[in-house]
Amino acid sequence: MSDKIQKDIVRMIRPEIHALKAYSVPPAQGLIKLDAMENPYSWPAEMTEAWLRVLRTIALNRYPDPRAVNLKQRLRSAMNIPGDKEMILGNGSDELIQIILLALARPGQYVLTPTPTFVMYELLAAAAGMGFIDVPLTPDFALDMPAMLAAIKKHRPAVIFLAYPNNPTGNLFAVEEIEAMLRASDGLVVVDEAYYAFAGVSFMGRLREFDNLLVMRTMSKQGLAALRLGLLVGTPAWLAEFDKVRLPYNINSLTQASAEFALSNPVFLETQAARLRVDREQLFLALKSIPGVRPWPSRANFILFRVRSAAEIFDGLLKQGILIKNLDHTHALLGGCLRVTIGTPEENQIFLQALRSI
Ligand code: PMP
Repeated sequence: MSDKIQKDIVRMIRPEIHALKAYSVPPAQGLIKLDAMENPYSWPAEMTEAWLRVLRTIALNRYPDPRAVNLKQRLRSAMNIPGDKEMILGNGSDELIQIILLALARPGQYVLTPTPTFVMYELLAAAAGMGFIDVPLTPDFALDMPAMLAAIKKHRPAVIFLAYPNNPTGNLFAVEEIEAMLRASDGLVVVDEAYYAFAGVSFMGRLREFDNLLVMRTMSKQGLAALRLGLLVGTPAWLAEFDKVRLPYNINSLTQASAEFALSNPVFLETQAARLRVDREQLFLALKSIPGVRPWPSRANFILFRVRSAAEIFDGLLKQGILIKNLDHTHALLGGCLRVTIGTPEENQIFLQALRSI
């Protein structure tokens, strides 16, 4: 790169953006992919055929329905969304986080999250030009309530993000502690229920009690990661504001039709999730039985575990064609930690065998 370009970049790109590292996705071709909390199952042939028949009816020359009316209706019943609450859709819940932060960003405003947690909260806070406050979890990954409440009092964060269950630790924070934060904060609290299908507990039914509560979900972990569809539910007045920064056609027609189709077979999605919940418990017990491996119980579709040498295990697995996530050195509480997504029973066995062999 020429000196001039480098100088121009330093002069023109916001310093907090220049300092960022782009979200990196490792190449996974040909590997057993257990790194990104995807659902490992595809659809039976007859279901794929029925889906393709739906896709054939889509007019590719027309813009998508900007309000995704039909899809929202399906989501309302599939996810028990309270009738008096509003919803906006995002190109994945990533985009919803971005929308919330774009709408709230102004100098001196803060985002608060416990950490370690999902990294996009911090990345997008920086991109939006907001301050970011992180309060470390306790060593057993619970909320450090005195520190959280002190941070709320001191910084009065515009928004608090709580992944429920948390990624990458897999646990659920205590309900009473989340309630305490909802009461203590005069900002918004987003309960990110990306892993709802595997946890079965939710704040959706609590929306009427807290005007500052927003509940976020995604279809990604339920087998529809390719579609990029997330939803944010909350008080209509708040969502009307967020809707102003949402790009008008952010949910494309193929996604709208495909998600509607998938949600018309909710039993199918739930059966896959149930299978993954059972296999999660088996994988946990198997990991626990390996000397030198310490897994944490999980309410999501992944398991965090600690080993003596994370890099050695990660590389050894990769050599055997298995990709998981190395979290060593990403946070003070995650030394020696790796995260594995629940795959098919066969994939889980191959992973366990390889792990044992290393
Ligand atoms: N929230 C949490 C807690 C996540 O772990 C993830 C994905 N890893 C997301 C949100 C984003 O999901 P998506 O953009 O695919 O909806």
